[in-house]
Amino acid sequence: MQEIRWLISASYFIAAILFILGLKKMSSPVTARKGIVWAGLGMVLATLVTFLTPGMPTGNIVLMTIAIAIGGSIAWVSGKKVAMTDMPQMVAIYNGMGGGAAAGIAAVEFARGHMAGTMLFTLATLGALIGSVSFSGSCVAFAKLQGLMKKAYRLPAQNTVNIALALVTLGLGIAIVWLGQAASPDPIHDLLFGKGPLAVPPWLLVGFFICALALGVVVTLPIGGADMPVVISLFNAFTGLAVGFEGYVMGNPALIIAGIVVGAAGTLLTQLMAKAMNRPITNILFQPISGEAQASGTVNGTMKEVSALDAAAMMHYANKVIIIPGYGMAVAGAQHKVREMTEWLENAGVDVRFAIHPVAGRMPGHMNVLLAEAGVPYDKIFDLEEINSDFNQADIALVIGANDVVNPVARTDKASPIYGMPILNADYASQVIVVKRGQGAGYSGIENALFYMENCRMLYGSAQKVIADVIQNLKTME
Ligand code: NDP
Repeated sequence: MQEIRWLISASYFIAAILFILGLKKMSSPVTARKGIVWAGLGMVLATLVTFLTPGMPTGNIVLMTIAIAIGGSIAWVSGKKVAMTDMPQMVAIYNGMGGGAAAGIAAVEFARGHMAGTMLFTLATLGALIGSVSFSGSCVAFAKLQGLMKKAYRLPAQNTVNIALALVTLGLGIAIVWLGQAASPDPIHDLLFGKGPLAVPPWLLVGFFICALALGVVVTLPIGGADMPVVISLFNAFTGLAVGFEGYVMGNPALIIAGIVVGAAGTLLTQLMAKAMNRPITNILFQPISGEAQASGTVNGTMKEVSALDAAAMMHYANKVIIIPGYGMAVAGAQHKVREMTEWLENAGVDVRFAIHPVAGRMPGHMNVLLAEAGVPYDKIFDLEEINSDFNQADIALVIGANDVVNPVARTDKASPIYGMPILNADYASQVIVVKRGQGAGYSGIENALFYMENCRMLYGSAQKVIADVIQNLKTME
């Protein structure tokens, strides 16, 4: 028996190391795939050794097997099928499931009535609260990103409702902790409530969970537009924290470490993205971008079209071209054609570089992953802070399926929902060429002043086809 416990502990330790090393490898596109495999192996190991837990009833083993079969099959099928552009909602829903699972663990522990002591009750309640908020909030984020729900929905007196609901939920949570520990010898509780076998009444637990789930929904409903990536990342951090707390409650080191790793990574990512968007987390939660607001100023000018031939000629005779990829490049799957075009331009002596906005596309690192997959060398890919001051020396800024991340109203129009978000300075280049299919708006739903500027030309069509046409024309210019 002792050997089995030792084996389980050692396996959890190895799993934890695999999680940490996997996460480390995920920080670079070169090693990211290996990182996923390592972390996945850690997860498989942690799951398998759980079956060895001494004294586990056969019923539990059957239930665990059924749950793994159902969850594993859904994940396998959806993971195989998901389009790259649908990854954010997949991340959101999987993340929400983690939060829901943590809250579920707390619910089971409350119901079993085995917990004792202020510490355990506090952590279980906190985990239940954070996990529930993360679960319902992530479900709303999923519905928005999947287009199942209007992008943003504001209640009257939204912030008051949010704060009131948060206070009620916290109050119920505190009541659970105080009443729950009554069965255990706890001097603080005995002092406040006297001795006695008080149990947590079921209505209190049900009320607490309903309020916590409702809190996640009302906090997420008004969030839309460019704030969505940050909020998904915030819920990711919440899930990690909730899992860590419930790991402590269950005395499971693998859960504690996995939770801490996810919580810390999610918190760092949230901070980085909020900084990149120039939006403090409090603004995202309490003054969200609705995704429906319009910039105050009317955009003047007309959009001027350019042909693939002229665009090719402009780039062929340029010295410096900066390419700005966005969501449209991902939808069109144009990254391989873009790499091919880059090679033709470089053969013609053009200096070509890529500028990546931190929220371009629909998930953090989306553009980096696509360009890496297409074989674009890493030393040609630059982050916003690295390249933004170079646009005024560029002859051409080629915008491929990007919109919000190059919208100059973010600098100038205080009424704009994206005001204050750092943007790539495409408009500072001598000439701008924008590849898009038509008049479609970006994710935030607002008009883009860049498209109407004197130095901007529109190259209409789906990105893959358009870039293929440009390549054909470049070939004739050899
Ligand atoms: P946008 O969503 O702002 O714009 C994409 C543009 O691509 C549209 O204007 C569309 O115009 C064009 N497009 C669509 N399909 C094609 C196609 N096949 N070929 C060519 N063009 C196409 O993209 P950005 O990358 O600039 O900005 C990302 C936005 O998404 C930001 O607002 C960000 O906050 C948000 N977001 C980001 C997440 C992240 O983690 N990165 C997650 C969730 C949201 P048209 O229809 O005319 O072709």
